[in-house]
Amino acid sequence: MTVPPVTSPPVAASARPVLIVGAMGFMGRFVAGSSLAAGHPTFLLVRGEPLDPTKAALVRSFRKKGATIVEGSINEKEVMEKILKENEIEIVISVVGGEAVLDQLTLVDAMKSVKTIKRFLPSEFGHDVDRADPVEPGLRMYVEKRKVRRMIEETGIPYTYICCNSIVSWPYYDDCHPAASPPPLDVLPIYGDGTVKAYFVDGADIGKFTIKAADDLRTLNKNVHFRPPNNFYCINELASLWESKVGRKIPRVTVSGDDLLAAAAENRIPESVVAAFTHDIFIKGCQLNFPTEGPGDADIGTLYPDETFRSLEDCYEDFARMVRDDDKIHIEKSWSLEPQVCVPGTALLMN
Ligand code: NDP
Repeated sequence: MTVPPVTSPPVAASARPVLIVGAMGFMGRFVAGSSLAAGHPTFLLVRGEPLDPTKAALVRSFRKKGATIVEGSINEKEVMEKILKENEIEIVISVVGGEAVLDQLTLVDAMKSVKTIKRFLPSEFGHDVDRADPVEPGLRMYVEKRKVRRMIEETGIPYTYICCNSIVSWPYYDDCHPAASPPPLDVLPIYGDGTVKAYFVDGADIGKFTIKAADDLRTLNKNVHFRPPNNFYCINELASLWESKVGRKIPRVTVSGDDLLAAAAENRIPESVVAAFTHDIFIKGCQLNFPTEGPGDADIGTLYPDETFRSLEDCYEDFARMVRDDDKIHIEKSWSLEPQVCVPGTALLMN
């Protein structure tokens, strides 16, 4: 008879309570959804009522999936200490937006006081802010994110910095949530000569791998880089991919490095911040001009070799479907002689 080897059971990831700050935001939704899907007891911080209807619907949907909603703001130290202690939180993930980066200093202070946090992931979710060097006003956000990093390191709170590069989208240079819109159909802006490459990661994959990394000893006190080789495209290639999905050529217009610098110099917030990052990515190549094999780095592909990233091909197919559905609804409406209420996605079903 073969006796199976005695091994200690793996630590159940699902046992660790997670607090997510900014879960109702653009990026935070992916992280919250993945935490719940992975089975973590998931606590979502919201800043009190009244919530706008979209956020209220999200709260209901996350509640249905098992999330516990807690009320507070990260710049209220005592409130945060109470939430962390009462719910025995072990992992804190912050996905606050650009305007609230420095509010995280109070949250770090609260975590320092309770002394029970096993891992903190501050709001990063982009480039490695110690290595990238965008022009202003993008630089200001990086200086703030660096300040939060230094405070975390000084307090000794275990951390992981998520450097997920670009979310899958057409990289509009004036839109901080580009993944919410399909690529353009009229004119495709090409940055510089269009040959500088970048990594694109689907929002759901950003959420999934963030949650894996948050509870993985190999990512302790590291920058975690998302560099899916299959989703490494320059803007010329992105334009061709989009044209292949919609089945026609679209005029291209060059937006030079100087054009992007001029848009950044206008100092319109948040548009100029996005222009500064677009310049850094597609003119300077900030996502690729450094190796990720240092002792302070970990690469998602190496950590989880059996996991796949959703391909840009598939994601762009979704965008094409979104555009086709919009067209069908438009045609449907223009045929009708009677005024009608048209709910997106239902026009064809009604026929
Ligand atoms: P959003 O502005 O969409 O959402 C921010 C969330 O944080 C909101 O839910 C907001 O709550 C909450 N929040 C803000 N301040 C506080 C506070 N004091 N206490 C509690 N909650 C607070 O942010 P984004 O999703 O755009 O940005 C999140 C991160 O992702 C940023 O670091 C950003 O740089 C990065 N990012 C990366 C992208 C990429 O392509 N790699 C693209 C976009 C963002 P409320 O609803 O009450 O306002």
